[in-house]
Amino acid sequence: MQSIEEIYPLLSQPRRVAIIMHQKPDADAMGSTLGLSHFLRQLGHQTTVISPTNWADWLKWMPGCDGVIDYEFSTEKAIGVLEQAEWVFCLDFNTMSRTRHMANRLRKLPAVRILIDHHQQPEVECFAYGVSDTAKSSTSEMVYDFIVGSGHADKINKDISECLYAGVMTDTGSFRFPGASAAVHRMVAVLKDTGINHTLIHEHLYDNFLENRLRFTGMVLQSRMEIFYEHNAALIAIPWKDLVRYEIKTGDTEGLVNYPLSIQGIKMAALIIDRDEEVKCSFRSKGSFDVNVFARTYFDGGGHVNAAGGRSTDSLEVTVQRFIQALKENSSQLQ
Ligand code: 5GP
Ligand code: MN
Repeated sequence: MQSIEEIYPLLSQPRRVAIIMHQKPDADAMGSTLGLSHFLRQLGHQTTVISPTNWADWLKWMPGCDGVIDYEFSTEKAIGVLEQAEWVFCLDFNTMSRTRHMANRLRKLPAVRILIDHHQQPEVECFAYGVSDTAKSSTSEMVYDFIVGSGHADKINKDISECLYAGVMTDTGSFRFPGASAAVHRMVAVLKDTGINHTLIHEHLYDNFLENRLRFTGMVLQSRMEIFYEHNAALIAIPWKDLVRYEIKTGDTEGLVNYPLSIQGIKMAALIIDRDEEVKCSFRSKGSFDVNVFARTYFDGGGHVNAAGGRSTDSLEVTVQRFIQALKENSSQLQ
């Protein structure tokens, strides 16, 4: 993989560009891809943003989101774009498997693949150019660096700023995590100067749910959370029937995994959800316990030191038992 700077001189020649993100995109995936798309269009490129799956309703306010193609829903259309593309930017994921059903097709495309990402251990052999930096707060920050680094800071307009602000704000836990560096705050000042209303963006993202989601959260915290004080850890395990009963949609479970970390002394939290087609796991930690390694070792996943995810092909019950066993094996590191 060649350095991303190598493509800066090539940006002046307009191309057909596809920009893709990971499945079930969060605000950083959607914000960084749309931010990059708005930027490249100003340089004359023809861009299309593709998501491997659908996305949460609370992302739909983002400028350009109505033009994003859902690969699962509009497969033929997405394939047409991918096969015509000269460049495919891959944002906010480190391994092709994060693009779900798109993965095999992506590997075979004739297009030049370019990576912009902040997750650990990327599949660098899959990309011609790219930047992978785990020290970065968010992929949105990296898109900002890309725009500024390529000499186009003057192109940062309100549409770009709204998208990038949403990504960096959510990936830093509202500027709380260590990744929210001085450079991040300087970037936010630049974004703010384009006229964005950050209060409104927070409302779009955090005050934009239906009643059922709040009632579901209450039920989960009351009935589905187990605390393992001897391991300073907590688990929330949600059966499929709860998702059906509360009409839970994509994005409605986001953030749930963070609640147990607000309990004194808890250093690691897990969320295991039976999504019917698979059992999905999320892990969060405070301090030095590395959930990226934990997710890789036990649950076919990965991510960052303090936030990672994975999956299991076992039933929910068996996955929970495997998690408890894994906790015991890691107990000394959680003390
Ligand atoms: P979440 O728990 O919000 O799904 O994901 C937390 C972090 O772990 C995100 O940065 C996400 O990209 C990463 N992640 C989630 N699931 C997986 C997975 O199955 N494989 C890998 N490699 N990373 C994941
Ligand atoms: Mn991200």
